[in-house]
Amino acid sequence: MTVPLHEARPAGVGRALPDTQQGMRRRNLARVLHAVSAEGSLSRAAVASRIGLTRAAVSTLVDELIRWGLLEELGPERPGRVGRPGSALAVNGRGPAGIGAEIGVDHLAVCAVDMRGAVRARAVRRGANRGRAPEPVIAELAALVSQVVAEAEREELWPAGLAVAVPGLVARDSRTVVRAPNLEWRDTDLGGLLPGDWPLTVDNEANFGALAELWLGAGTPREFLHVSAEIGIGAAIVVDGRLLRGTRGFAGELGHVPVRPDGPPCACGGRGCLEQFAGQEAVLRAAGLQPREDLVGLLAEHAEKGEEGVREALRDAGTALGIALTGAVNLLDPETVVLGGALAGLSPWLLPSLEAELRGRTTGPACPVAVSPLGPEGPLLGAAHSVVRAVLDDPASVATRS
Ligand SMILES: [Zn+2]
Repeated sequence: MTVPLHEARPAGVGRALPDTQQGMRRRNLARVLHAVSAEGSLSRAAVASRIGLTRAAVSTLVDELIRWGLLEELGPERPGRVGRPGSALAVNGRGPAGIGAEIGVDHLAVCAVDMRGAVRARAVRRGANRGRAPEPVIAELAALVSQVVAEAEREELWPAGLAVAVPGLVARDSRTVVRAPNLEWRDTDLGGLLPGDWPLTVDNEANFGALAELWLGAGTPREFLHVSAEIGIGAAIVVDGRLLRGTRGFAGELGHVPVRPDGPPCACGGRGCLEQFAGQEAVLRAAGLQPREDLVGLLAEHAEKGEEGVREALRDAGTALGIALTGAVNLLDPETVVLGGALAGLSPWLLPSLEAELRGRTTGPACPVAVSPLGPEGPLLGAAHSVVRAVLDDPASVATRS
C-alpha cells in the first residue's frame, strides 16, 4: 500500500473538496471567506474583483456565510460617496471558534480562538502528568475544555472543533496516541475520553508548533524545519506550506536521533538520543540544578547571572542540537531552522554552539536559524488555529451546526 508522505488532514492543511458543482460552491465559499479574512474588511465588490467572480455570485455566497455566522456586515463603507455605498464585510468575532488543548508532561492547557484569530478564553493547570494513567489526566483536561467552552459561549462563540496537542506519536486516525514515552502512555484513544460531539483532531505537539509558526509567525518561509523542546524534543518538517508526516505519521522524531551512540539510555529504548543531552531535564541535571515548576525560567535565570556550570550545560545542549540538526539539514535542505518551545527562551545560550556545529558540518552554505516569537505557546495556538483554518478552508462544514 502506498501512503502519500504529504497527507492533508483536518488540521487546517487544505482538505481537497470533490470536483463537483457542490464541491465548486464549497471552494468558492472558502475563497470568499479567505479573501475577507486576509484583508480584515472588504466590500462585496472588492471580494468579487479579488477572486474573479461576478458580484451577484459573490452576494449569494456572502449571504450564506452571514447566515452561518462566519461573516458580518459592518455597515455602509465610505458614506457620502456618490452612488450606492457598498457594505463592508468582516469575519465574525462571534460564531464558530477553534478549541485548542495541550497535554504537557507538566501542565494541561486549553484555549478558544475566534475566526479572527483572537484568543478569547484560556485555562491552564500546572502539575506533573508523567506516569499517570490517561483517564484521570483526560478527565482533568475535559474539565478545562468545559470551562473554556462555557466562557466562550458567554461571548456568543461555539466550538467548531477540538484539537489536542500531545507529546507523542499519533496514529493516522488523528485520535490515538500510539506512544508518548514521557507520559508513559501507549495506544490511548482520546476520542472516547473527551467531551462534546465536535470534530476531534489529535496531533503531535511539534506538528502543531510548526503549523502555528507557519500561520502566525512573521515572514516564516514555506519550507522550514521547526525544532521545539519541553521535556522531550520534537521537530516538524514543513515543505511547501505543508507538514511532511512520513508513512506512518511519525516523521520529525529528532529527539531520538542518536548524537552519541554509546550515551545514556533513553525512554524510547535507544541510547544517546538527542533528548538525553538537550531535553530540559537533561540540561537541568547537567547544570546541577534542582527542578522546579518553570524549568526554562530557572535555567535562563542562572545563565543570565553568568553561572558557568549552567552556561556550559546549555552550550553542550546547543552542540548536541547542532549535531542532530546537521543530519536533518543535510538531508532536507530547509530554507531555515526555527527554534520553538523552551528552546526559544534559552536561545541566547544555545545558539552559538548550535550554529558552530551547523556551520562546520553542513555541506552547503550554513542554514539560518531563527527563534520563534511564539515560544511555548506554539502548540496550543497551533491546535486552536488548526480548527479555525479547517473552517476557513471549508466553511460549509459548519453549516449544519450554526
Ligand atoms: Zn530516545
